[in-house]
Amino acid sequence: MPDIAAFTAELAGVEQSTDAALLRQKSRDFYWYSPILKRQLDGKRADIWLRPQNEDEVMRILNAARRHGVPITVRGGATGNYGQCVPLNAGAVLDTTAMTAPIALKDGVLEAEAGARMIDLDLWARERGWELRLWPSTKRTATIAGFVAGGGAGVGGISHGTMRERGNLLGVRVATLQDPPALLDLEGDAANPVNRTYGTTGVITRVRLPLTPAQDWRDIAVVFSDFAAAGRFALALAFADGIPKKMCAVFDARLPPFFRAIADVVPADHALALVMVAPSGLVALRDMAREHSGRIMADQDTVAAERDPEATPFYEYCWNHTTLQVLKRDRGVTYLQCRFPFEGTLESVEKVRAAFPDEVWMHTECVRFGGRTTMTALPVIRWKDDARLAEIMAGFEAAGAGIANPHVFTIEEGSGYRRVPGDQLGFKRRVDPLGLFNPGKMKSFDEPESDAA
Ligand SMILES: Cc1cc2nc3c(=O)[nH]c(=O)nc-3n(C[C@H](O)[C@H](O)[C@H](O)COP(=O)(O)OP(=O)(O)OC[C@H]3O[C@@H](n4cnc5c(N)ncnc54)[C@H](O)[C@@H]3O)c2cc1C
Repeated sequence: MPDIAAFTAELAGVEQSTDAALLRQKSRDFYWYSPILKRQLDGKRADIWLRPQNEDEVMRILNAARRHGVPITVRGGATGNYGQCVPLNAGAVLDTTAMTAPIALKDGVLEAEAGARMIDLDLWARERGWELRLWPSTKRTATIAGFVAGGGAGVGGISHGTMRERGNLLGVRVATLQDPPALLDLEGDAANPVNRTYGTTGVITRVRLPLTPAQDWRDIAVVFSDFAAAGRFALALAFADGIPKKMCAVFDARLPPFFRAIADVVPADHALALVMVAPSGLVALRDMAREHSGRIMADQDTVAAERDPEATPFYEYCWNHTTLQVLKRDRGVTYLQCRFPFEGTLESVEKVRAAFPDEVWMHTECVRFGGRTTMTALPVIRWKDDARLAEIMAGFEAAGAGIANPHVFTIEEGSGYRRVPGDQLGFKRRVDPLGLFNPGKMKSFDEPESDAA
């Protein structure tokens, strides 16, 4: 057992707390979406919460952690879904939310401190004519480094792919637990070992990302009498190179009633597509909706909505917000993450819907991977038990979909098609030889005899 008292004695002046209620709160994320993770992770607690103000304080914490063998679990906005920032072996939670400064924007490249909220960075960049290429639907809470280390897909994916795409992450500065702890600047492919590795390979202190010219995005809701028509429209939009777009999601008719601000405009038993297009794409979007027998029922300014705490940008009904909107009123559901094949995408979606007509409420998102376009999905699933969930996952796979299982907490078991290439295990061995960064989350390191690598 590490000597926490000796560890904290070295950290005078660093913001910290051992208050039990605060530790409970600061040791959680959104793992409770999964009844399986809830069972496994409820009650896990850090011994101490630390909130460094800058890199110097991060290095003081890491030097003390190395001397006293204290596990370090990094925490940003804590919106992760797989218990990524839940400390399995207690120790310290290192909270990055005081390190929020945008540092530079030059030639369309943004550099920022790790704990900056994505909404703040986007608005800061917008004032300078640029915007983020990608953001999660938790943009209003999530931090930039949390997105790199724990997420990586979302709004913008229909045009720019995911964070695993070469060029979407340009570099990071990362603090290590080597002997002695060090700050490393990693550029390009060299940054892959911290991309979606859940804080197991160091504390990111700075991130460098490419931006894209800012657009005045419009949120548009289009309704369809059936899901298949909505799917055809969505994929046609995803492939429409002449329409500048940021998002296109499709929802089973059972989902819109959970979307508070637009529920009333979606007729009963109608499927819904929520899209974000630039003003220059509106005419073509209307034509495309008409061609697919869709009706535009609502329309708002995305940026105005996200700046207004009372309003809901449509992306907060999309991605993994869909599940949250349902869970707010019905705790009997959970979800899955999957990617449909590049060929026969819609046929594969329909096979799953036909196999599980009652338990799977389909929700798809159009995304590019390696230059090809398909649909990923975060369907809402009526929860029964572990065995039934496994059957449903097998059903998705039988229909040609790949699963990124959101009901496990290790990188190797969960990430599936979202795994970033590179020698993450080798890097971990180099920068964290004592295994103190987020222990239990990189299976190939913690259980080298397993075939998880
Ligand atoms: C309602 C809802 C919707 C969501 N939608 C999306 C979505 O659209 N796309 C998507 O990708 N994800 C989504 N997520 C998951 C999550 O919101 C995102 O991945 C988000 O970017 C995480 O950022 P965060 O700051 O909250 O990270 P946290 O939850 O705080 O951390 C995530 C992981 O990154 C590590 N980490 C955090 N900061 C650092 C750092 N500085 N250095 C090293 N490691 C660090 C943590 O240890 C943890 O393992 C959603 C979650 C919810 C609850």
